Amino acid sequence: MMWQATVLTLYPELFPGPLGASILGRSAGEGLWGLDTVNIRDFSDNKYGSVDAPPAGGGAGLVMRADILAAAIDSVPRNDRPILCLSPRGKPFTQARARELSHGPGLIALCGRFEGVDERIFEARDVEEVSIGDFVLAGGEIAAMALIEACVRLIPGVLGSASSLGEESFEGGLLEYPQYARPREFEGRAIPDVLLSGDHQKIAEWRRKKAEEITRTRRPDLAERFSSDGPIRRGKNKEPKR
Ligand code: SAH
Repeated sequence: MMWQATVLTLYPELFPGPLGASILGRSAGEGLWGLDTVNIRDFSDNKYGSVDAPPAGGGAGLVMRADILAAAIDSVPRNDRPILCLSPRGKPFTQARARELSHGPGLIALCGRFEGVDERIFEARDVEEVSIGDFVLAGGEIAAMALIEACVRLIPGVLGSASSLGEESFEGGLLEYPQYARPREFEGRAIPDVLLSGDHQKIAEWRRKKAEEITRTRRPDLAERFSSDGPIRRGKNKEPKR
């Protein structure tokens, strides 16, 4: 069955947006993955079409109602897909999670707006909160797009060469090494000699060294995890991937 993302949102007109462009859009056209949206407002129980209510206990803003969200969720064929609610409080989304999701049947994304959603929906419908970073957006739509895009590009056949995926940032636990292309010299800056040497072993070693350096200086947290993951992880990474 095709990998399918279903997005529950108050703004379905925002989709597919960037997900419809370039290789991702083309691969959707080829049937490698699919996207559909559900307008949460269609499940409003009142003539104003409202889906939110003031927070119990007082305070600013509005909260999306659990009963209306439940009705929207129940309208979607689940097909063993996880329901992910985009939320700054959620578990940080990672490349590893994207890879895991890309191997599954797809996902259902719940986009919050206003102050977020009624807490009871999480348990009532087995909804998992996921964050795309430590900052606050105005709504879950852009976050859902980011998450879906990260998954879809890992679906076999969506991107041309699988080998370029293996060497990317995060895949081996490190950030990617620096990349260069034509021209050989740009504003007095040359491509490092080793990359033009044709010595594949040396090139792999240089890239590995640079990846470690960059990870250590920019993301000491990743570098720490990488080295403490021990010999299995390290051994795996010693093999230059093709
Ligand atoms: N009051 C909430 C923030 C609401 S922001 C709080 O303090 O936690 C409105 C909506 O934007 C959220 O419901 C969520 O769906 C989305 N959103 C905001 N920041 C996000 C992030 N970092 N990751 C994922 N979704 C986010």
